Amino acid sequence: MDTDWMSQGKCRDMDPDVFFPSDGVGVQAAQRVCLVCPVKAPCLEYALAHHIHEGVWGGTSERERRRLLRYRRAATAPTTAAMTTATTATMAAPSLPAMDPEPAGRH
Ligand code: SF4
Repeated sequence: MDTDWMSQGKCRDMDPDVFFPSDGVGVQAAQRVCLVCPVKAPCLEYALAHHIHEGVWGGTSERERRRLLRYRRAATAPTTAAMTTATTATMAAPSLPAMDPEPAGRH
């Protein structure tokens, strides 16, 4: 994944501890920096793609990223209707060989 954006972050010359706060006030302080950062979007995508759970990335808190990941998983998960259709199609796909008619005269 491209990391060129990192050199353009508003946080590049700041103390990294600012972005790994221990409380909500610290999270908000970091988010204020991210708010005006030109690389907020790639920063967030990087954190999501690399499963970075700690710290503020792309203007999001740890909790916000967990929520965003849950939302994305739900949005891309197959729906029940789609799963039913796929299952039905799979079950119906192999057609049974035609059976020979019963010989005449057995009734
Ligand atoms: S969005 Fe925030 S954490 Fe990401 S590069 Fe910008 S200032 Fe740094």
